[in-house]
Amino acid sequence: MKAFQYATALTPANARELAGDRGCYIAGGNDLLGLMKEYIAEPDLLVNIKSLPGLNRITPGAERWILGANVKVAEIEAHPGLKQKFPALTEAAAEVGSPQIRNVATLGGNLAQHSRCWYFRQRDVFCLKKGGDTCFARNGENKYHSLFTGNTCISPVVSNLAVALGALEATVVVQREDELARWSIDELYAKAWDNPTAHHSLASNDLILQVEIPVAERRSSYLQTSEKSQFDWALASCAASAKIIGGKLAAARVVLGAVSPVPYQVKAVGKLLEGRELSAGLAEEAADLLLKKATPLEHNAYKVPLAKALVQRTLMKLGA
Ligand SMILES: Cc1cc2nc3c(=O)[nH]c(=O)nc-3n(C[C@H](O)[C@H](O)[C@H](O)COP(=O)(O)OP(=O)(O)OC[C@H]3O[C@@H](n4cnc5c(N)ncnc54)[C@H](O)[C@@H]3O)c2cc1C
Ligand code: SF4
Repeated sequence: MKAFQYATALTPANARELAGDRGCYIAGGNDLLGLMKEYIAEPDLLVNIKSLPGLNRITPGAERWILGANVKVAEIEAHPGLKQKFPALTEAAAEVGSPQIRNVATLGGNLAQHSRCWYFRQRDVFCLKKGGDTCFARNGENKYHSLFTGNTCISPVVSNLAVALGALEATVVVQREDELARWSIDELYAKAWDNPTAHHSLASNDLILQVEIPVAERRSSYLQTSEKSQFDWALASCAASAKIIGGKLAAARVVLGAVSPVPYQVKAVGKLLEGRELSAGLAEEAADLLLKKATPLEHNAYKVPLAKALVQRTLMKLGA
């Protein structure tokens, strides 16, 4: 690990000023410290953002709930109000890593975490994501990679919370220079769809302040499949949300994780489900439509039936 300086920020403005061009925010450190040990991230200054006031609170509200960026994944998992209002989010949190990781990992860090592609994580490999000219996974070991991508990097988004928050139509509030930007989850990751070097749309000293979840009386659910039951990322994950009015679905959203650089959705799926009664047949139709444009690689075709089964089960769980 390269030597670095360390400073604690006391306000968001102070954090951005300290980070400057060569600094980097550190929250729980689960992702960042791993990158630093491999010399993949080499900040001159680590800016501790855990003391920023007010960012460690979960605030209920009649119209929206506000979750500060420094709220721990374990706090989300265990919060009774969140469990009742937004089960997709608490279910997604419960699947993150292991209890030790969830006790340290923060919401902001989970959303901003970097690629887990094994080529990217290897210090001596200079792939497209690091500014090189080759994606080694495309014709190499691509078992864990994307089924959909808008660019030449096939590394998928691995944040569980992003998938659930996408289904819940959350807004991410980001301090960018002197402005407060309000982004949908789609916007938070849009750059990773187009640009092989990006993990998300955040610039180097953009600071996530909070996430807001609208209270829409929706049901929601989340499921994932991993190789191991603990201490592992999803091979594929799915979050769904919908209102059920008179037995019919309304405003449904279905989002897939670990299959694309962004939490993956297809607008036509919402249209297909609108006003229909939930049934196994309808859930299968939705799954087929969502996976229609999948382009599997040599080693990840198994993700297509896996993701279809997850979509069907996640949707059926909404009606349970
Ligand atoms: C074995 C293992 C298994 C895991 N399994 C899963 C899993 O199944 N699902 C899953 O979702 N994750 C998984 N993770 C990843 C883990 O959840 C993330 O590393 C963690 O959530 C990152 O949060 P942190 O607070 O530790 O972030 P840090 O490591 O502190 O930061 C991560 C990145 O986010 C940036 N950052 C942090 N906070 C902010 C902010 N407020 N604004 C802007 N940028 C910010 C940092 O600069 C850094 O670039 C796993 C990790 C391990 C080690
Ligand atoms: S998938 Fe992306 S991160 Fe992995 S080797 Fe290819 S360019 Fe690099």
